[in-house]
Amino acid sequence: MVDIKTRFAPSPTGQLHVGSARTALFCHLLARKMGGMLLLRIEDTDRARHVEGAVERIVDDLKWLGIDWDEGAGVGGDKGPYVQSQRLGIYTKHVEKLLDAGLAYYAFETAEQLAGLRQTAEAEKRSFIYRRPDSLPTRGQAEAVKAEGRPAVVRFKTPGEDVAIHDEVYGVVTVPGDQQDDFIIMKADGWPTYHLANVVDDALMGVNFIVRGQEFLGQTWRHKLLRDAFGWPEPRYAHLPLIMDMKGRKLSKRDGDVDILSFRKAGYLPEAMINFIALLGWSPGNDRERFSLEELREAFDIDRLNKTNAKFDRDKLLAFNTAAIAEADEDRLLVAFEDYLSLNETPFPAGDTAMLRRLLQVNKGFRTFADIVSKSGSLFVADDAVEYNGKAVEKVLAKNDGDGWAVLAELRALLGACPWTGEALEKLLGEFCTGRGLGMGKVAQPLRVALTGGTISPAIGETLTLLGKDKTLSRIDRCLALART
Ligand code: GLU
Repeated sequence: MVDIKTRFAPSPTGQLHVGSARTALFCHLLARKMGGMLLLRIEDTDRARHVEGAVERIVDDLKWLGIDWDEGAGVGGDKGPYVQSQRLGIYTKHVEKLLDAGLAYYAFETAEQLAGLRQTAEAEKRSFIYRRPDSLPTRGQAEAVKAEGRPAVVRFKTPGEDVAIHDEVYGVVTVPGDQQDDFIIMKADGWPTYHLANVVDDALMGVNFIVRGQEFLGQTWRHKLLRDAFGWPEPRYAHLPLIMDMKGRKLSKRDGDVDILSFRKAGYLPEAMINFIALLGWSPGNDRERFSLEELREAFDIDRLNKTNAKFDRDKLLAFNTAAIAEADEDRLLVAFEDYLSLNETPFPAGDTAMLRRLLQVNKGFRTFADIVSKSGSLFVADDAVEYNGKAVEKVLAKNDGDGWAVLAELRALLGACPWTGEALEKLLGEFCTGRGLGMGKVAQPLRVALTGGTISPAIGETLTLLGKDKTLSRIDRCLALART
């Protein structure tokens, strides 16, 4: 039995998409479950789509998720380099081998000529498949064309026979010979295409189990033909189902965040993300839904991948996050909260751990860290930056002939004379309620509106102590002045 070696091979074209994160996770789980290896390779041969800093982003988000790998980018190994732009010589050598063996050939069509052929095919209502010319150019002719500055690509000579791929998820997928084209393996600028570089690297790096998105299944015949041409053995393949939105469309940015960094910035925990992503195309075979990464490493089973499209249910992710937060201990939450603060601009004093702990405590029940900002953020802005919500002012202060304003004015006087401890404040508010025959809501809400501009904040005693006496009084005064205008 050969040990499993799998790989995650992202192209640095932007943020780590949840679909790619799922691929990385399943590769990781497969390797961990089977005692195999996971390799990280950066596929950056598409220069037009290359985004500066994307490799660092991907690596950082993988680490944040807790996904680690054994070889490749950032880790090293004896099959490197692991970044394709550093391997151009290797690809050229392999293309030459195919040219020498008569398994590939040069082609000189310009982009316009190809577009013309494509248009003709469209007009005739047939799909465009590049037709091999009857006589193929020699190397010498190719050199001459290149010297003139005209484009010369290298195309693979497909044998034109049906190709069958055995996929662990989708079963046997056969691509008929007449649907195969002589695809490009080296572009006019001398860079390899994805197909060539991907296949060469998988083979040279000893990858024998390929896990990736379903969108690559239709390309895999090309990879098999290339492997056959080089005499390399077949790896095992597992293609993962598409991820759809709740309307059954392919998940895209139009429905909101789709990359890991956005969820991280929005205040999600990596453990909730991982749990949620793991269920996009995999199930444990029973009703269990909640898993830690550690538990997933145990439970994962390639046979339980399914081919039905996965549904990206944001409500479920939020529910997982809420539960993960409730289960996490404070030290764990503090680390995650600090990560959240490092990625966002908030009014909170990021370096003040005692205060951050307190915020975690007084906001118990929060669903994401963003909830802490919406519930407690206004306590940390400058007093004159508090914005009053018109509806809240109307409903809580102005309604019923300004009952709320009256309560506020009375409280202002009492609070001004009160020592600022939780106990004293609670006693004051309690006695005030009893004395006026008012429920706590009728007293706390006017205060909340005066102190935060709206009706949501931590428990009123906490709100007052977090704010401190001076700020409390100054905010009430500012609000009462509003009543007079
Ligand atoms: N570079 C490809 C991507 O980013 C990898 C495809 C593959 O896994 O073969 O999607």
